Amino acid sequence: MTQSHGWAAQNVAAPLAPFRFSRRDLHELDVLVDIQFCGVCHSDIHAVRNEWGNAVYPMVPGHEIVGRVKSVGSAVRRFKAGDLVGVGVIVDSCGSCSSCKSGEEQYCEVGGTLTYGVRDRYGDLTQGGYANNIIAPEHFVHAISPKLNPAGVAPLLCAGITTYSPLRHWQVGPNNKVGVVGLGGLGHMALKFAHAFGAHVVQFTTSESKIEDAKRLGADDVVISKDPTAMKKQAASFDFIIDTVSAPHDINPYLEALKRDATYCQVGLPDKPPVIDPGHLLFKRRSWSGSIIGGMAETQQMLDFCAEKNIVADVEVIPIQKINEAFDRVVKADVKYRFVIDMASLDRG
Ligand code: NAP
Ligand code: ZN
Repeated sequence: MTQSHGWAAQNVAAPLAPFRFSRRDLHELDVLVDIQFCGVCHSDIHAVRNEWGNAVYPMVPGHEIVGRVKSVGSAVRRFKAGDLVGVGVIVDSCGSCSSCKSGEEQYCEVGGTLTYGVRDRYGDLTQGGYANNIIAPEHFVHAISPKLNPAGVAPLLCAGITTYSPLRHWQVGPNNKVGVVGLGGLGHMALKFAHAFGAHVVQFTTSESKIEDAKRLGADDVVISKDPTAMKKQAASFDFIIDTVSAPHDINPYLEALKRDATYCQVGLPDKPPVIDPGHLLFKRRSWSGSIIGGMAETQQMLDFCAEKNIVADVEVIPIQKINEAFDRVVKADVKYRFVIDMASLDRG
């Protein structure tokens, strides 16, 4: 077995605390990664607090992982010890269904293996990246350019790919008016990517304090979503809107902001579903859709795009000892724009 240590929740009410555990020995296609940085995704909070109703404890969260390869299994070809790599939200899939075969492992028909909180193909409970190391098959490991700040790269493994993938799928580009709802970890990456793809981008936010940041991050316009008059002015003008909000909120005013045939894409996953007025969909043949992370090849494509365009997340680096405080601040939308844990802090006790 491989010895690991990190921070885990032991039950729904417990704060995260130090935890020792073991991972499997390396199989021939496995990569062992010494973790340097791990981003703090709102999904970690939903999961630890059992807001989706499927939590399994003890739970070491974390799926925005950057580190260096420590060792590799005998059949690994793409990586060697010392390489800078990333691991994201899934660490396995069946490999033979039509989704896996078309490079959409995140839609594996058998069910992809989440990086933490589920049983893997060996029957082990997966444990995530708030830890010193992780093991994943090389297919689920990504090469990271040394040109980029590794702390800023970590959030690309979830917040980055989750927003890049739908923007590519719906072919967002120049001459499109695109809305981003919520300026948090996912939202600020959606804003950066939509801007980089050449779209006219409007940021919707509940936080007046974020207006200047939104413009700096690439917004052509910012709308305070709590202002009904400002929302009405956006009616029937958007080609695509991506919703990154973590809490229940009224999406009907955003549906009204879509043009005929345009799409509203849900990537945020609040603990309660929205109530939708179907009239907003059928009178203009609008679509309400959703998307989850991205495929493995697309994740590498996104990381390469970021290296070429010098795109990383805006991060606040914290020691692991501040994680419980960081969770509370994320829930209050008080982070600019992603906490990232420096794993060197693990050994400080
Ligand atoms: P986050 O950093 O907390 O950002 C969420 C943002 O939503 C906040 O910054 C805030 O933006 C806005 N917001 C929060 N509470 C709100 C409320 N009550 N009403 C309206 N707006 C509110 O979260 P995140 O890490 O980006 O994750 C966002 C969501 O995506 C979570 O539900 C997460 O589980 C989900 N997720 C999905 C995928 C996927 O594959 N689909 C992947 C990762 C995460 P403003 O201050 O600008 O209003
Ligand atoms: Zn995530």
